[in-house]
Amino acid sequence: MQVPLLDLKAHHEPMREELLAAIREVIDSSAFAGGPFVAKFEQDFAACCGASYAIGVGNGTDALWLSLLALGIGAGDEVITAPMTFMATAEAISFCGAKPVFVDIDERTYTLDPILLERAITRRTKAIIPVHLFGQAADMDPILEIARRHGLPVIEDACQAHGAEYKGRRAGSLGICGCFSFYPGKNLGALGEAGAVVTNSEELTNKIRMLRDHGQAKKYHHVLIGWNARMDGIQGAVLRVKLRYLSKANDARRAHARSYNQQLADFEDLITPVEAGYARHVYHVYTVRCRTRDRILQAMAGRGIACGIHYPVPVHLQEAYRFLGYTKGSFPVAEQCAEEFLSLPMFPELSADQIQAVSSGVKAELEKDKMAYEPVG
Ligand SMILES: *Cc1c(COP(=O)(O)O)cnc(C)c1O
Repeated sequence: MQVPLLDLKAHHEPMREELLAAIREVIDSSAFAGGPFVAKFEQDFAACCGASYAIGVGNGTDALWLSLLALGIGAGDEVITAPMTFMATAEAISFCGAKPVFVDIDERTYTLDPILLERAITRRTKAIIPVHLFGQAADMDPILEIARRHGLPVIEDACQAHGAEYKGRRAGSLGICGCFSFYPGKNLGALGEAGAVVTNSEELTNKIRMLRDHGQAKKYHHVLIGWNARMDGIQGAVLRVKLRYLSKANDARRAHARSYNQQLADFEDLITPVEAGYARHVYHVYTVRCRTRDRILQAMAGRGIACGIHYPVPVHLQEAYRFLGYTKGSFPVAEQCAEEFLSLPMFPELSADQIQAVSSGVKAELEKDKMAYEPVG
């Protein structure tokens, strides 16, 4: 059986007519760059996150970058984040002129380890960006408490956590602001590129609204030096339709994760994802760990099952960040995870048969490895 890693076609099929109608409406009103369709989506998305404001931007990287700029972070500053994330989290820090400083992840949740956080804070630290990796929130209470004691803002990288919860509150609504990506493959994805910042701060909202639009307070009156980071009208209209399907889609992902967990339980060589007691995990990706990852990834491809690796190289060991001077051994948990992580197919339309095929494939391959490594006689 062929199983893709994700299947956007299947996801869009039931909403096809609604999406086309939404796009037609934008074409009919010519509101392509920012404008009323983006504003309506912003209202709906803020409400969905339990926040007062949402600011639509070009993508998730913009959301992180403009949040940092709006908080006044720049040259000479340090911003703490996790090394096990997509490159964009660190890039946004670098593109403000600041320096990313990494703190290793917790080995069960794969998010920034609060126990290691405080010793990474220096007098140059200006913000902390926990990443809600794979759809599970970082342990926000201790992170917020440490941040409060040091007077530091916390920006949530919620780019993989649309609809995720921490102690009943929505990811993205816990820090000074939360950053979302609507890259097509995300739990809430545009038909192109888009992103948003959500916040309860009116001041931050006004600043990011100006920054995304060349620093304009009104047309051709530039209060700040900004950038063009507006959201497309078409993406705003499309996202507003797709937002109505998010909760059901996340429920389906959670049910699929439960099936995987059951079918893959009790293998000593396989670590399945753990949902923390505080969390409602939305399984943007379903990632297991195994020591023979590279072989299993290949063998699964041979069975027609597409798996992935999120992420094979932690950010502190990326060539682009060699100048920071980190080496192998700097963040042992992130490094071990990078060698062992294997993402299995995960999307809302996954069928029971597909889950079964993936699980039995993984189990069969693990058995092979076990035979190969077990001493004979
Ligand atoms: C996707 C993602 C981003 C970047 O979002 P884009 O919309 O691709 O710019 C940032 N951080 C994390 C953790 C992501 O998964």
